[in-house]
Amino acid sequence: MTLTINAPRLWNNLMQIANIGGTPDGGCDRQALTDTDLSGRELFIDWCVQVGLKISYDAVGNMFARLDGQDNSLSPIVLGSHLDTQPTGGKYDGILGVLAGLEVVRCIREAGIKPNRPVEIANWMNEEGARFAPAMMGSGVYAGMLDLAQVRDAADKEGITVGQELDRHGYSGFADPTGKDIHAYLELHIEQGPVLEQTEKTIGVVTGAQGIRWYDVSIRGQEVHAGPFPMGMRRDPVAALPEIIAGVLEIGRTDEHARATIGQIDTCPGSRNVVPGQIEMSIDLRHPDEAVLTSMNERLEAILASVMDDHKGLKFDLNQIWHSPVVDFDAKLVKAVLNGALEHGCSHLNIISGAGHDALMVARKAPTTMIFIPCKDGLSHNPAESATPEHVGAGANVLLSATLELLN
Ligand SMILES: [Zn+2]
Repeated sequence: MTLTINAPRLWNNLMQIANIGGTPDGGCDRQALTDTDLSGRELFIDWCVQVGLKISYDAVGNMFARLDGQDNSLSPIVLGSHLDTQPTGGKYDGILGVLAGLEVVRCIREAGIKPNRPVEIANWMNEEGARFAPAMMGSGVYAGMLDLAQVRDAADKEGITVGQELDRHGYSGFADPTGKDIHAYLELHIEQGPVLEQTEKTIGVVTGAQGIRWYDVSIRGQEVHAGPFPMGMRRDPVAALPEIIAGVLEIGRTDEHARATIGQIDTCPGSRNVVPGQIEMSIDLRHPDEAVLTSMNERLEAILASVMDDHKGLKFDLNQIWHSPVVDFDAKLVKAVLNGALEHGCSHLNIISGAGHDALMVARKAPTTMIFIPCKDGLSHNPAESATPEHVGAGANVLLSATLELLN
């Protein structure tokens, strides 16, 4: 018989914790390491203690709630996400993954299953990066992608540092986050995009995450007066823009998975009657295949060089300021999620994560995958963020099935 979670109980938990930091427009403001975040954590701890879970912390404020297994020398299966929100956050982003983890553990206990290894629920500290940058802070330190000492120095708008807050809440004395061993990590999350809703699928079987390259581009010419200088005698960087824009957007049409975005274009000095001496622009390239992303990078270099050939007198600088490599999730875990969707009769679609998640950090160190469910209009980081009880229940059931498969 297929085991199922208690969907109304999970839904009630989601609605109850949303009152902590709840905003009048139905959203949630529970930013990392605030007193409100602490209140949310305490409610979660209450629920965990009621089912006999043991709570532990690490020195960056990540929390773990543990159900012992038959052999506690084995590393745990970890289910989780984050309880912190954006200042204009919703009820589901992150919270769903933590509370669904709790619901899975309750269900395992109630069914009288003694797991062979421990099962833990993780609440990673400061996934959102709203109060303290960068995002995915707790999972980033765990994965060795961020340095604990540097993270402690990160300050909010008031000048309060992560270190001061970790000290104030009593987390600083706990163990080094990088020492934790994880057998498998599963994260249930709302999609934060429109694909599942538009294709009318319930479960996104997440196979990995896009690689990202960020660039700053400068095109340099010469500032001159808009009146006296004939068009043919100018070195105007704006003249090169149409070809650059067309070329970059064409890179974004490499295939259905490619993305190319020019998010910012600034002319300098930005005066109505001055031919600009310089243009600064940002370019964001993404692809789920690292080799294709590399070739997109090469095309970008080639396009800029060729446009400059057509516009003698202009010069360019192309600086890659960030490269986040492609993440491929663990094939065995992805299969367990797919099997879970089949077991519960859920429509499903293979999907690539376009947003940042704790799972992308954890994947650098432990076998990892994610499960997506649809959210209304693809909205998140917005008080109007919304998911249906049916989709929440289906996502948690798939999480349960995948966990049981990995325990066997
Ligand atoms: Zn999230």
